[in-house]
Amino acid sequence: MGRDTERLQSVCVFCGSSDAADPAYLRAAADLGRELAAANLRLVYGGGGVGLMGATARAAHEAGGAVLGIIPDFLVGRERALETVEHVVVSSMHERKAMMYEQSDAFVILPGGIGTLEEVVELLSWRRLDLHAKPVVFYNPDNFWKTLFDLFQHTVDARLTPPAFMDAWTAVDRVEDIVPALLDELTPRSDRAAPARML
Ligand code: AMP
Repeated sequence: MGRDTERLQSVCVFCGSSDAADPAYLRAAADLGRELAAANLRLVYGGGGVGLMGATARAAHEAGGAVLGIIPDFLVGRERALETVEHVVVSSMHERKAMMYEQSDAFVILPGGIGTLEEVVELLSWRRLDLHAKPVVFYNPDNFWKTLFDLFQHTVDARLTPPAFMDAWTAVDRVEDIVPALLDELTPRSDRAAPARML
């Protein structure tokens, strides 16, 4: 456990920016922020103060956790950049994602919209290409992500994506299971079922 904890220091959270989201999702986002702070894990996120992203960041910060927000200049106003936490203003979405990726050891996906989908699909496509092996955990309340997982399976069934791709992430339906799932993903592969290579 100690060694895995050392390998897990910063967790990137991708999630929705809408304040109109189900209040249960906003509460779960805040719960995750507190969980990360309690586990002494730094939150890396999109830098905004809105929606699930703002809820996660404010809760982590108020609980004494480290937070790094990364936001493109054109979104500083629109996503109401949270200036109470450490943040970096970059010049493009690409730069934002590259820095979020570089600064993180693992990824958590909370409910989100089209922006979250874009981030997740890129992250998993890089995994598909063996460009990274960082843990990816979906928070999947009420099977929120089922239709996305079904779409991935559809591409596997059509022999367009290798079956091993379906092992590229873990889904949990309780916030308190997210950090343990990240640590489990970091367990040396020799202690787990051997993954098939994807290429
Ligand atoms: P949404 O899930 O649509 O609420 O978006 C969540 C976050 O994803 C927001 O902070 C968006 O700014 C961000 N986002 C949307 N598209 C992209 C993109 N192409 N690259 C990086 N971040 C994005």
